[in-house]
Amino acid sequence: MPRLSEVIAALDALWPPSRAEQWDAVGTVCGDPEAEVSRVLFAVDPVQVIADEAVKLGADLIVTHHPLYLRGTTTVEAGTFKGRVVHTLIKNDIALHVAHTNADTADPGVSDALAGALDLRITGPLVPDPTDPEGRRGLGRLCELDHPETLREFAARAAAWLPQTAQGIRFAGDPDALIRTVAVSGGSGDSLFEQVRAAGVDAFLTADLRHHPVSEAREQSPLALVDAAHWATEWPWCEQAAAQLDAISERKGWGLRTHVSRTVTDPWTAHAPSVTHPSIPGAPN
Ligand SMILES: [Zn+2]
Repeated sequence: MPRLSEVIAALDALWPPSRAEQWDAVGTVCGDPEAEVSRVLFAVDPVQVIADEAVKLGADLIVTHHPLYLRGTTTVEAGTFKGRVVHTLIKNDIALHVAHTNADTADPGVSDALAGALDLRITGPLVPDPTDPEGRRGLGRLCELDHPETLREFAARAAAWLPQTAQGIRFAGDPDALIRTVAVSGGSGDSLFEQVRAAGVDAFLTADLRHHPVSEAREQSPLALVDAAHWATEWPWCEQAAAQLDAISERKGWGLRTHVSRTVTDPWTAHAPSVTHPSIPGAPN
């Protein structure tokens, strides 16, 4: 059985912490480097329900995409929700390791998994990492569809193949417009509109799209926008990451058991569709 330090070294080789953004907080949050690891749970969010799932599973390590503490803290008191997560983990000898923006830009990274979930053919990164001579790493991915489909069909593909959430898929643009090329970026993507427009793709699939950036983007170009739940766009990475660790474990003869959490940690829990009313304006369904 490998020690935690050995597993972390393997994870850091996949997603070097030095490639994380300056503002990010990646790496090992808690855990004894000398402890043995046999079960690993992958999840998007380091929240209590995931800590509880790890306890039930008998996991020794949780790997999440989102950091537990993005900024400094002065307390891990169990009355705070993050402190409670820390207490649960330490009491049960469970380590927590985070790969966030260093996993976003990796090859393969978060957006490769998103494109893979939708069966899209990747042609390259949306925002290439200038330090990668091969031009394979970077933020977001540019993709082609095997056969053109309408925006309505593409949104339905995303709705069918991404994990189910209360939000579902929203899109902006002519539902009958033909989509041949798309940019995808897991997580919040509205800061990437300029690069997406420059790439000249027909549609952009991402999450957390807000009124003003979307309104301005739609006024400026016919680019179709497809908005999924943040969690749903990043969950496919958990499966990809678990498969990567499985391959390492097999090569090294570690015998690790990896699990991907199927717990939905999207904070939105329900959706009420709008209804038509004679005296107030309505959008088409
Ligand atoms: Zn995210």
